Amino acid sequence: VERKKIFFAGPSVMPVEVLTEMSENLVDYHGQGLSMLEASHRGGMFEDMYDETLALIRQVMDIPDEYEVFFLGGGATLQFSMIPLNFLKKDGFADYADTGTWSGKAASDAKTIGTVRLAYDGASSHYTSMPDPAAFKPDSAASYLYICSNETVGGIEWPAYPETGNVPLIADMSSDFFSRPVRVKDFGMIYGGIQKNLGPAGATLLIIRKDLLESRNSGLPTYLDYGTHVSQKGLYNTPPVFAIWAVKLVLDWIVRNGGLAGMDEKARSKSSLLYDVIDNSGGFYRSPVDRRFRSRMNIVFRLATEELENELIAESKKLGMLGLKGHRSVGGLRASVYNALPEADVHALVDYMRDFQARKG
Ligand code: PLP
Repeated sequence: VERKKIFFAGPSVMPVEVLTEMSENLVDYHGQGLSMLEASHRGGMFEDMYDETLALIRQVMDIPDEYEVFFLGGGATLQFSMIPLNFLKKDGFADYADTGTWSGKAASDAKTIGTVRLAYDGASSHYTSMPDPAAFKPDSAASYLYICSNETVGGIEWPAYPETGNVPLIADMSSDFFSRPVRVKDFGMIYGGIQKNLGPAGATLLIIRKDLLESRNSGLPTYLDYGTHVSQKGLYNTPPVFAIWAVKLVLDWIVRNGGLAGMDEKARSKSSLLYDVIDNSGGFYRSPVDRRFRSRMNIVFRLATEELENELIAESKKLGMLGLKGHRSVGGLRASVYNALPEADVHALVDYMRDFQARKG
């Protein structure tokens, strides 16, 4: 098959080896006579695969024993309310770094549940910048500090994480999950939708420190209480079986490709190719983002007019390049270069951008 070049922001490109392996084993899972889609989540076929997946997650991310790891449905969005329900102390407040669309949505959901203090407000920079992580501190009385490690819409990413002392650091890593080594012990909780770097849509992966879990709020509805899921090994209700199988195969692929250090190297190399074309275009292409915080995953750029932008998008589709339109809320262009996107596809895009400039510039 002639594959398109898939620059979608999510759901997004999957490793072609994983899709092939899934299709080869879809009807008959490794000779067991049924599909993983048909397997009971209370039976051995699923459980073996599930245990291997959880073990691989721990291995690849180097997760210490004092953390629980499990999947939930409901999208990353469900966590915008589950986090404050569980961890925002009733008589206290939580700190949020509002760096763009996704942390902003999380903060506004938290406000419906308790008191939120904006420890950083990106509005004045139009969400094109971030605080210096080395200098940024939460209020020491905060229930937690919430950040979004990579803002998928604005194309900005924390280059390092703030040190938060005794205040638990909670990060939405949906769009740069498993794309670089992370010191898990610096976090109270890490979570993300899997549909960008880890698998198809349909599951959220959560990693939560046990002591934070133990101090969570009580009296929550069953499903919204993290304790429910942890006590049932993430199998309180029917888990997203198909998505978890995909995650297992993607993790195998990550291991074969150098683990998280390998993913980071690829991400830097692919994103630099694009930023170099933008920076060397004499202003034909323009990155709106503070260069200290440029995302390695979502490369956002603009041209002089919307007309030119639309022309580029229309032409690129004809060349088999999909997903270059910026998020509807901000316009412009965005190339997402997640783990599974082959570097050759970025070379093709860069060549095309140079050619477009030569014709229109
Ligand atoms: N957080 C980030 C950083 C995202 O990019 C997205 C979706 O793109 C979400 C959260 C919401 O994820 P979901 O659609 O799984 O609810």
